[in-house]
Amino acid sequence: MAIKAVFLDAGGTLLAEKLPRAAIYANVARELGVSATEAALRPLLSRIAGEMPRTAGGGFRYSEAWFGEVNARVFGREFGLSDAAVAHACRLLFAHFAEPANFRVYDGAIELVAELKARGLVVGVVSNWSERLEGLLVGLGLRQHLDLVVVSAVERCEKPERTIFARALARAGAEPTTTLHVGNDVEKDARGATEAGLQTVLVDHHGEIEPGPFPCVRGLGELRAWILERCP
Ligand SMILES: [Mg+2]
Repeated sequence: MAIKAVFLDAGGTLLAEKLPRAAIYANVARELGVSATEAALRPLLSRIAGEMPRTAGGGFRYSEAWFGEVNARVFGREFGLSDAAVAHACRLLFAHFAEPANFRVYDGAIELVAELKARGLVVGVVSNWSERLEGLLVGLGLRQHLDLVVVSAVERCEKPERTIFARALARAGAEPTTTLHVGNDVEKDARGATEAGLQTVLVDHHGEIEPGPFPCVRGLGELRAWILERCP
């Protein structure tokens, strides 16, 4: 079926953090007088992410309230810092993640969404992200080319659940069979979208995705060609 709407994942598909998460936390730790290296923070952050419930501090995963609880575990529980120091860490981290300059947009991303929209397709972002994503997309020059931005922390549901895709379809006024979802995560993006009845393609920027049941392109140039072949 010809594609009439395109949904795109954000992180690892259209944009990426410039610094690894553990390096960002190491910088904040240093500012608070704690010497914790990036190498030490990597397994710690991964362990805490694994133990975190889906909602915490009244917020859904990746919301500021939820990250407040992550930061309390890192800086309070693990490093023994005071509540005031944890609050300071939160301010530094939230400011970092709200700053567009701390992210990079993959080559061709802005041109791709602009072209799809100019061709009359409905174009949206569907992302597991904090409530700050929309502002970030404005700052990165992507938002003006998008019809909709659907974010897990706001919706209180997340990929790969069918609900978040259904909400995006409803908001886009789109049918699943003529909608393509693009992402870089096999389970959350490709399998989730397929189970919600959408078409899907994976984008592999770094040659990391194992061959599997879902179509996969290498980078946004290949993605553009793949989509245009399937447009009316
Ligand atoms: Mg992603």
